[in-house]
Amino acid sequence: MTMSTNQPVLKVTDLKKAYGAIQAVGGVSFEVRPGEIFGVIGPNGSGKTTLFNSMLGQITPDTGKIELNGQDVTQLGPLELNRRGVGRTFQTLQVFGKMTVRDNLSAKADALIDQFHIRHVADKKAGELSYGQQKLVDIAMAFMSEPDLVLLDEPCAGVNPSLVGGISTLLKDLNKTRKGSFVVIEHNMDFVMDLCHRIMVMVEGKVMAIGTPEEIRANKQVLDAYLGS
Ligand code: ATP
Repeated sequence: MTMSTNQPVLKVTDLKKAYGAIQAVGGVSFEVRPGEIFGVIGPNGSGKTTLFNSMLGQITPDTGKIELNGQDVTQLGPLELNRRGVGRTFQTLQVFGKMTVRDNLSAKADALIDQFHIRHVADKKAGELSYGQQKLVDIAMAFMSEPDLVLLDEPCAGVNPSLVGGISTLLKDLNKTRKGSFVVIEHNMDFVMDLCHRIMVMVEGKVMAIGTPEEIRANKQVLDAYLGS
């Protein structure tokens, strides 16, 4: 696949998805640049998961376009998207609890085990680890296929607050060493502000703002509608 350096990894144009009378995503457009960590925030029900599931091929949008490295992937399913370089993590753990950490990570195990600092638990069954450690294994699994783009769905959900900083450091490190782009949905605002290069705020299925953490923090409309509450 040919790729110019300025081409966005992901380009979403006027995406819409309704469930009956509910316009879950109501015309969302944004781009994710190569190497960028892009955050998606917004109140409950603002359409973040519906947007994510569209980008992962789990649901087909009603209208709009999703391009991956310049190619239209709007109609593709999850397996084909994964083959084209999209990895993901889920809000809830997807590790195989009865398999060891090493087996969960299989072929790419050793490099990932070191990068994620989980060598001391590599031969334990994943289900025997703390939730936070399982979350690390879970995130590592998303990187096994060496994806160009990783979609992370609430990587801090259920994780002990003392481990949140470690996840942020790890993701920054992965972003530097593996040169991938990340899209992160997360409710933990300190985490998002610390990790992301740019952030998109969704409210009621629409984009309220896109900007750097500083711009988002200073945006009066965002403060009134979301951050200030
Ligand atoms: P949260 O932060 O709580 O995860 P969200 O921002 O991810 O919320 P969505 O889950 O995308 O928001 O939901 C957007 C809207 O679409 C909500 O009003 C929700 O009730 C509705 N919705 C989502 N999925 C479905 C579905 N399968 N059927 C009907 N309505 C749905």
